[in-house]
Amino acid sequence: MTIARLALDVPLYRLFDYRVEESPRLRVGLRVKAPFGNFGNREKIGVIVELAEKSELPPEQLKTAELLDDELPPLTPDFFRLCEFASQYYQAPLGEVILQALPPGLKKLHPPQRRARKLKAGKPVKTAPALPDLNAEQEAAVHAVQTRQDYAPFLLYGVTGSGKTEVYLRLIALQLAKGKQVLLLAPEINLTPQLEARLTTRFPNTLIVMLHSDLGEAARERAWRCAFQGEARIVVGTRLSVFTPMPDLGLIIVDEEHDASYKQQDGMRYSARDLAVFRARLAKLPIVLGSATPSLESWAHAGHNRYTLLCLRERAVSGAQLPAIRVLDTRRMKLADGLSPQLIEALRQRLAAKEQSLVFLNRRGYAPVLACPACGWISRCPRCAANRVVHLADQRLRCHHCGLETRIPRACPTCGNQDILPFGRGTQRLESMLAGVFPDARILRVDRDSAKNRKQWEALLAQIQAGEADILVGTQMLAKGHDFPRLTLVGVVGADAALFAADWRAPERLFAQLMQVSGRAGRADLPGEVILQSEYPEHPLYRAITAHDYPGYAETLLNERRQAGFPPYAYQAILRAEAASMETALTFLQQAANLPCVQDYPDVALYDPIPMRLFRLMNQERAQLLIESPSRPQLQAFLPVWRETLATLPRKNKLRWHIEVDPLEF
Ligand code: ADP
Ligand code: ZN
Ligand code: ZN
Repeated sequence: MTIARLALDVPLYRLFDYRVEESPRLRVGLRVKAPFGNFGNREKIGVIVELAEKSELPPEQLKTAELLDDELPPLTPDFFRLCEFASQYYQAPLGEVILQALPPGLKKLHPPQRRARKLKAGKPVKTAPALPDLNAEQEAAVHAVQTRQDYAPFLLYGVTGSGKTEVYLRLIALQLAKGKQVLLLAPEINLTPQLEARLTTRFPNTLIVMLHSDLGEAARERAWRCAFQGEARIVVGTRLSVFTPMPDLGLIIVDEEHDASYKQQDGMRYSARDLAVFRARLAKLPIVLGSATPSLESWAHAGHNRYTLLCLRERAVSGAQLPAIRVLDTRRMKLADGLSPQLIEALRQRLAAKEQSLVFLNRRGYAPVLACPACGWISRCPRCAANRVVHLADQRLRCHHCGLETRIPRACPTCGNQDILPFGRGTQRLESMLAGVFPDARILRVDRDSAKNRKQWEALLAQIQAGEADILVGTQMLAKGHDFPRLTLVGVVGADAALFAADWRAPERLFAQLMQVSGRAGRADLPGEVILQSEYPEHPLYRAITAHDYPGYAETLLNERRQAGFPPYAYQAILRAEAASMETALTFLQQAANLPCVQDYPDVALYDPIPMRLFRLMNQERAQLLIESPSRPQLQAFLPVWRETLATLPRKNKLRWHIEVDPLEF
């Protein structure tokens, strides 16, 4: 009798023994159908992690699992090692990790019958596209990476437009020539069709697959199989693709490595960027992390020579300059609906010159809150510790956290006053203000409300590229990696709010965002200008932005972090609890903090439990407990011991908890 130890998608930290029928096909890494539950009347898809002769369970308790018959080769040891690492490091059950790493179609008990459609590269093309000559810094970067065949992490720091993507393309070409596959991670590739387009023109004869959650289930499974079976030579994907098994992987690239979307915020909470580095280490491969504003973690690694720093200091296109950035002091200014006379004048000039402008405001909706001046009512979300946002375009009040929405009331729900007012500004309001000032301009708003899916987004991009818009109004969606040829002016409004946010990571994020949106302005033939309105023009962050000085500002922030004992100079984890009442959540966390095992780890500090900033979400009260240590090994030794004891604590009233390692948000 053969015993198969299965990974199953259940929240338990162990494997499950099943009997399997002998078969020449039987291998570790194959998927099976396994009866599950007390009466064995439910079935689950499992993955064989080990094969054994004996089980510790008495034979009569062993149920029988059945091999799936779908000709998928066994998952490889590489894949399992990455999953095991993720499971240990992020305190997530191995079964959950393994199964969430597979495309959804492969976890279905009864997958729909699909025609076996083969993916193919484009039509063979003989003439290779003409390539630009690399500049010296690009050349050096390509050379440094190309010569490594073992684990070698690189941080490619290059200002916007410095030719980072060109470096990636060269490195990819070299790998393809060696018969290797390349994994390119990019944040939200569904929003950056330009990257896909550049890859397909550069490598017309190569099968390239995209992997992201916007894909239909069948398409995703097909792309994943192609990568796993080695047919696809380039895999471009969002965070979930970091697990994609690839037999000939030769290089990993993580574009915009600082981007927060690499962090998975629910289920297994992991950082795809960090896992990519670990994967490169396991598989003994070079990895390139690229950014114009690297995360402070990566920058600090480069500072300590754990990553090799590669710099591209200038724009690649000859003659192209970085845009001139001006911080406009608005303290003593009379603003027209939040817009300074200078910004309005600059917009007017661009209209006259038939050039494009962009006004950046990172808040969507019309106004963040609706309020009644008579009685003080405001549009709180009844389920969350947040206000519902006014969306005038479709006459809704909408909670951006839980999605709850209603029509905008005609009068105050408590006192009947009819003069209820929207307070503050979002992109919709900015759009209508600009329309008032420039009645003849073609104004296009770009945010998650106007571009809900890839189709709408591509239509908007096409409109912009065709020059059908004079003024773009938008959130950070517009900031990411797009080339708008006639865009010469960027106005930034409302950025100050992030300067004083309680979140100590806010400045790092704001800097990256402003650098990125500024990078949209100006091309070789048309110089760019950025006007940033602020009431705090002397703030060090703005000074650094004006000077395009990422390294200087990173140093400032790292010094602050060192003094405060924050990451990357300390290692953190968070225990969160959600319950119907705040008291239940806090009591649980306090019990967790008082567990005796905590005493065994003197280098691990536990803070007081506190309500989270968003302390209520969907009627659940939320609290957290921060865990910190100057030593990562200590923290990693402590967490599993603590987690196991936590699981034995009595839980009241459907309390739920989870641990997050390296949290980005609090
Ligand atoms: P990044 O990824 O750093 O923003 P890109 O690789 O997209 O930069 O390059 C910006 C622009 O410069 C692109 O239009 C690209 O084709 C061009 N470019 C890149 N490298 C060179 C080079 N060595 N010579 C001329 N143009 C280049
Ligand atoms: Zn009222
Ligand atoms: Zn809500």
